Amino acid sequence: MKKAAKQKKTAQTQIICLTDSTTMNATHDSCSLYLYPQQADFAITDLPAFVHALQKSGLIAQKIDSQKTLQHYFTGDKYLDYIAYLGCAPAIKFEAGDKNENFCFIKIQQHSSPTLIYNKKQPRAPHCPHCNKPLKNWQDKKTGSNIHCNLCGNTSGIEKFNWRKMAGYAQLFIEITDIFPKEAIPQQALLDKLAAITGTKWQYFYSCQ
Ligand SMILES: [Zn+2]
Repeated sequence: MKKAAKQKKTAQTQIICLTDSTTMNATHDSCSLYLYPQQADFAITDLPAFVHALQKSGLIAQKIDSQKTLQHYFTGDKYLDYIAYLGCAPAIKFEAGDKNENFCFIKIQQHSSPTLIYNKKQPRAPHCPHCNKPLKNWQDKKTGSNIHCNLCGNTSGIEKFNWRKMAGYAQLFIEITDIFPKEAIPQQALLDKLAAITGTKWQYFYSCQ
């Protein structure tokens, strides 16, 4: 009895490893994990103070290219305490190699108005907040910041839909590059830390380009 259970566990682990390293690399060229505030129109007014707080928390380190205005940062020394990688021991690259291939770094993006980030190649159907059904062809039913559900006849704000962690609507995003969907999960300690820094609740999703 005990032996059988152990064998089952081994088999499960092998499946996870195959999914993570082989198939996902082949199907997605560039995927990221995004952290964003629940309040869609939340924006930071003091960017240097926000960056400093993130550096102090150990999520991010110094800017990748200090000459550029791009808000791109190396991962900080507490990065792996905040982001838990699943499956086999992942080979995470924290710096670009000679060929300048993909590596894991952090982008801070702030848009002038709330923006929906989603996988444009394979958009997923969000669930309507009223009837809870998946709404296909939602892109045709989107007007400004609302989406009309033809299944129940209600129109709701984009942020009210359940995007099933595959899209997010916000003004401010912290993007962590080179993470495949569900390959790594932000820990509650990180979401709490971001809430403490900004005074608003945070959530996350994955998207590939
Ligand atoms: Zn509906």
